Amino acid sequence: MKITRSLRFLTHRQALLHLTLLLAIGVWFAKPLFAGGPLYVGGPTFGVDGQPFTWASMPIHYRVDGGPMASTSGGQSVIANATGITRVQSMFQTWQNVSTAAVSFTNDGPILPVTGFSDGDVSTVAEFDAVAGSCQAGTQNPIVFDANGSILQSLGLSPLIIGFSQQCALSSSGHIVSDMVLLNGAFQNGVTQPQLDANQFNEAIIHEMGHLLGLDHSQINLDLYVQAVNQQVFGSCNVDQLAGLPLMFPISFCQARLDAGLPPLAPDDVAWISRLYPSATASTAYATISGTIFFSDGKSQAEDVNVVAREIDDPNTPQDESRRVAFSSVSGYRFTANPGQTVTAQYLPCNVGQNGCPASGFLDNNSAGDELGSRNTSLIGSYDIPVLAGHSYTVEVESVDRDFTGGSSVGPFATPIPLPGVPEFWNLQESANDDPTASDPISTTPGQSITGTDIILNGTQPRFDQFEDGGSELWYEQVKPWRHEIGNSLPEDV
Ligand SMILES: [Zn+2]
Repeated sequence: MKITRSLRFLTHRQALLHLTLLLAIGVWFAKPLFAGGPLYVGGPTFGVDGQPFTWASMPIHYRVDGGPMASTSGGQSVIANATGITRVQSMFQTWQNVSTAAVSFTNDGPILPVTGFSDGDVSTVAEFDAVAGSCQAGTQNPIVFDANGSILQSLGLSPLIIGFSQQCALSSSGHIVSDMVLLNGAFQNGVTQPQLDANQFNEAIIHEMGHLLGLDHSQINLDLYVQAVNQQVFGSCNVDQLAGLPLMFPISFCQARLDAGLPPLAPDDVAWISRLYPSATASTAYATISGTIFFSDGKSQAEDVNVVAREIDDPNTPQDESRRVAFSSVSGYRFTANPGQTVTAQYLPCNVGQNGCPASGFLDNNSAGDELGSRNTSLIGSYDIPVLAGHSYTVEVESVDRDFTGGSSVGPFATPIPLPGVPEFWNLQESANDDPTASDPISTTPGQSITGTDIILNGTQPRFDQFEDGGSELWYEQVKPWRHEIGNSLPEDV
């Protein structure tokens, strides 16, 4: 079931394309990525503890590059600027059209000139940096057309990146201040291989706008991705599976949803944007299934486990609703990925302010951990899944796929952990020894909050080993019997 590391498919030029976020140049808020919903969550010293960062007010004002959306490597325009602007506006409209969410956008015109950028067309890294600086300053939210991918190339990033979004500034009050999106037009220039069709590229635009809104990646119907990679067949996904595949999935590998006759957003995308920005109708359209993922001891919480709620299939329809209608969350998505530690607090001394040396004067001082994410320990293994109300669901756990790291990550950790136990469903008799295939349906009513849907993972390692109990277990269970065998010859036994 597991697939090889990304190198394999990155060298396969056919069609496996990263929709990746962040990690361009200034890595402002790029380390821990929170997911299965919000991109960033506040901590005790920054933002609102345990609450997602969202835009404070609507509409969100953006500005668009003045150059072509796509051009040849020689610079000949393939998709003109006006067409690009129209498409950007249309893709923002996709999010705005979600009736259960209250998001809106305004195009304020061309990207404002700043020192180092004056010709209207962001086409070099220097210009990109200049515009990024104005985004960090909160001056503007630029949509950059990297018309032939040359900016990405100069940044040293993979040519298979279709686009990225980076949140340039977050406020201490828990809001997104500014964001910047780059779109790689090489996928639309008719020359560079591989090419995307217009609807596939539009999906990449919508995806990056999802990040702009504060959404992280989501993992649902992972088996579709695994199958595509294993068979090296892309762009022809099963339609039931595709219907449930989030647009916020980290990798693009299927035909466009519109090309398959599906609506532009998957149920999970719609649910989470409605959770972050609920309109008046959201509370009656959705219910919430919540719980905590535990290790086998039933006490210790497991962070970074992907949790998926699937609608129970209706046997009277030809479609498979369990694949089409699914929602997800990652356990611990509101908890920090880095709570900090004091062991290396005085390691690697440095001169404060030089080469990134922190105020502590020690480069490896991680005493405070990351400023993002809650320290409320009840959230370590907790999850919340918004689901369409009025249906019944199963809930299951699985690993976040190991391909999804860094800018492609899903969940609190930039590098995912393997599921400590085995994939399993929730059932009424949850225990560390239950049948992982046994599930019980969870029915929902509008606005209902269903808590306590806890899953105890099967077969995980003991919470403590013999070295963590002050030595008593080591002594009585292991050392002493061994000493009896060798005849009480050690000094302590004399
Ligand atoms: Zn992404």
